[in-house]
Amino acid sequence: MKHFVISFFLLLFLSPLVYAQGNYTIVIHGGAGNVDRQRVPEAREAEFYAKLNEALDAGEAILKAGGSSLDAVEAAVRIMEDSPKFNAGRGAVFTYEGGNELDASIMCGSKITAGAIAGVTNIRNPITTARMVMEQTPHVLLTGKGAEQFAREQGVEIVDPSYFFDQYRYDQLQESLRQMQEQGYMETGDMMGTVGAVALDVHGNLAAATSTGGMTAKRYNRVGDSPIIGAGTYANNASCAVSATGHGEFFIKYAVAFDISARMLYKGSSLDEAANGIINGTLNDLNVSGGLVAVDKDGNVSMPFNTSGMFRGYTKSSGERVVKIFAD
Ligand code: ASP
Repeated sequence: MKHFVISFFLLLFLSPLVYAQGNYTIVIHGGAGNVDRQRVPEAREAEFYAKLNEALDAGEAILKAGGSSLDAVEAAVRIMEDSPKFNAGRGAVFTYEGGNELDASIMCGSKITAGAIAGVTNIRNPITTARMVMEQTPHVLLTGKGAEQFAREQGVEIVDPSYFFDQYRYDQLQESLRQMQEQGYMETGDMMGTVGAVALDVHGNLAAATSTGGMTAKRYNRVGDSPIIGAGTYANNASCAVSATGHGEFFIKYAVAFDISARMLYKGSSLDEAANGIINGTLNDLNVSGGLVAVDKDGNVSMPFNTSGMFRGYTKSSGERVVKIFAD
């Protein structure tokens, strides 16, 4: 009885403190690329805003109820994976051979654990399987047939590869193939649609998640940065959580997501200095296009990109919400 009374009063006194530090933030992206008002008709623009808001709502509902940042980023990414509008899950771009190969990764900033899958062809929500790799196996990255077998054993939803067929994406492949034939190379400026989310929960834990179909006309089982921890995705409670989008090869070579955390920890940079330094500094100098979303342990947000637009948005426990597509 005595213990009960003590615990009761302790809880009574401590709960306001717990709540006082309980701010949350979630930031999402749906890819960076040539996104300007001429290319996106108003009707389509409204659909994008609606989908981005839906993804933010799903993540925010979890955070508001005291749920984990991991649950929030997974929920937000699943909504974008299920939409044909983004290059992830349902709307994945086509490979050179006319198939779809999906990559995804997730990272927990409190435990420094991570899971990822690459080159899968029949998993409806790759982000959920990536999380299962993190939580149910001693591994970080599973690929191809093995990853698909693991997903089946875990009981996640397997779909026929035709589920990923989308006419708009197929036309994009034909255009890329034509460019390759005529010019010997294809323009990467049009790439966009990779999805990602980062979040800070009321317990102070950071998480990051990224999911993609990769790059149109990719070949030879090419894998980009999205399922590579430290390149397309990174989270560390001591610094920040990052999800990137852009020309994946460079994000791998420059360890972009990890570099942001490292600049904060080693150099004392702010989140925005670190994120901008890479996107509008290093990558710009290399003529590499892309962007990222990031949140730090204090809930600060950064969403830099060096393309004409990036599908992006964030919402915070303060009630602040921003959703944008174009540069302005
Ligand atoms: N980063 C992705 C990849 O290289 C593509 C993108 O974000 O648009 O696979």
